[in-house]
Amino acid sequence: MHNPNPDIVVIGGGHAGTEAAAAAARMGARTLLVTHSSATIGAMSCNPSIGGVGKGHLVREIDALDGIMGRAADMAAIHVKLLNRSKGPAVRGPRAQADRKLYRRAVRALLDATPNLAIREGAVVDLELHADGALAAVVMADGTRIPCAAAVLTTGTFLRGVIHVGSRQTPAGRVGEAPAIQLAVRLAALDLPMGRLKTGTPPRLDRASLDWESLAPDRGDAEPEPFSALTEAITNPQIACRITATTPATHALIRENLHLSAIHAGAISGRGPRYCPSIEDKVQRFAARERHQIFLEPEGLDDPTVYPNGISTSLPEDVQLRLLATIPGLEGARMLRPGYAVEYDYVDPRALLPTLELKALPGLFLAGQINGTTGYEEAAAQGILAGINAARQAGGASGVTLDRAQAYIGVLVDDLVTQGVSEPYRMFTSRAEYRLQLRADNADLRLTDWGIDVGVVGPARAAAHTLYKSDIGAARSGRPAGARARAQVATEALYAGYLRRQEAEIRAFRREEQAALAPELDYATIGGLSAELREKLSAVRPASLGAAARIQGMTPAALAALLPHIRTS
Ligand code: FAD
Repeated sequence: MHNPNPDIVVIGGGHAGTEAAAAAARMGARTLLVTHSSATIGAMSCNPSIGGVGKGHLVREIDALDGIMGRAADMAAIHVKLLNRSKGPAVRGPRAQADRKLYRRAVRALLDATPNLAIREGAVVDLELHADGALAAVVMADGTRIPCAAAVLTTGTFLRGVIHVGSRQTPAGRVGEAPAIQLAVRLAALDLPMGRLKTGTPPRLDRASLDWESLAPDRGDAEPEPFSALTEAITNPQIACRITATTPATHALIRENLHLSAIHAGAISGRGPRYCPSIEDKVQRFAARERHQIFLEPEGLDDPTVYPNGISTSLPEDVQLRLLATIPGLEGARMLRPGYAVEYDYVDPRALLPTLELKALPGLFLAGQINGTTGYEEAAAQGILAGINAARQAGGASGVTLDRAQAYIGVLVDDLVTQGVSEPYRMFTSRAEYRLQLRADNADLRLTDWGIDVGVVGPARAAAHTLYKSDIGAARSGRPAGARARAQVATEALYAGYLRRQEAEIRAFRREEQAALAPELDYATIGGLSAELREKLSAVRPASLGAAARIQGMTPAALAALLPHIRTS
């Protein structure tokens, strides 16, 4: 079933695509989600968990905009923990391990319950443009042409994806799933700036083959806190994980076999994520360390599969088996699937406007791993913004953005479009200048009213938010209120002095953001700029003096040279 004449087509049913499609549909746009297989909608390619420090902040922000990730994670949660509980509220990160199957089901159920949204299976292989270069239609592998006002492209690791296990290479977007080759060729032919990145995943283990009970348990919180303001309680049974670690014997084996690892044998040209490295990378980079911790995470309540978090690898299969045998509790481990690395094409995100629309191809928005990020949450965060803007464009409205003082989503998008990426980008709280302001606990107070104004927040959330705000008002004036509102007011009081100081910094930041630079500015003709900065400014075309200041290598003298070019109207 699909809309015959959609306003918006979203390509890809991963974390960016589902959030983009749901957002566009909530905005009232007739939306069609086209994806390879409806069975993989909401699939978690790697770790069976959502959130964490920085990432959990993004999930709360997505939820504040009425997105689906937080609710789906709550519906699938089997081990919930607030990370950094002993530290300040600004860096506490909600995290939930999810039952993979329940997560996919939850995402599907939330999409099915969204009006204006239809789903169609198939591969998109081509994009048709109008004579003026704007997007006209997407074309499917069976030749179907789907005209649309705008599209959101969220192809994840599928563009010319290649999987590596030792020296064995298989074209694939994920294990067992065909890559998107024709579409990658088409994007390259459109002269988009593209590159290669890589990421990896650990082997999956059969729980029955592990010495589970001998290992230290890792329990979740006694009172699991939901991600979503709309979830009353986590209802799934909560399970304990186990903790083990690599040993000197593991490290010796890895060193002996490094030449066989796809990453180290030079078979992979793409850069991998520095903050989520393979076990080969860890052993090399932290040569003095004798052990690396491994969390053994069950992939579901009725699933025998265990995800050994911390040993992503692209060593040959037989070496992976020998490696497992050196780890306490895993001596007899049976691999259900070997670990692998995947290499794929991405588009340099400096080719995007802060609305996530391609500068050179009006009507085409990009979100997720295709923009050089890694992680479900980073993908979903971009998806919701791209979905909002695609729908606004279809309705003739101008694009909207979030700034670095409003949201981690703003930090993420600004980093991408002004700095680009040299390795897969992952969110951390340290990336945000105003992190006392951008807490996971106040995401709805920061963003839900904004979401109501742009039209992405539905009536149920809007009503719940109004109630919450009146509770906050009651708590501030010492009247009876709900527990969450009281906790919020206590946190505000704790940070009051710092927050006042930060507000002055935010005002200064916003003054620079309002100093607009024309998109058509000819940087080649501006005196006082080095050749390198001219090149960077021409590539990024920063929207403001503030954005220009964040380009790497920018100097005070170069900024002064831009001052006369600030738009006054
Ligand atoms: P995906 O979730 O990959 O979804 C892409 C979707 O697009 C798929 O449904 C696909 O079928 C569809 N699609 C693609 N091309 C087309 C087309 N032409 N037509 C129709 N449909 C199409 N993240 C981490 O944070 N840490 C990790 O350790 C980590 N390891 C990973 C290891 C592996 C092996 C993989 C594959 C991913 C890993 N990730 C990791 C990344 C994480 O899975 C992604 O960041 C996240 O899923 C990206 O979401 P997305 O929506 O951009 O893409």
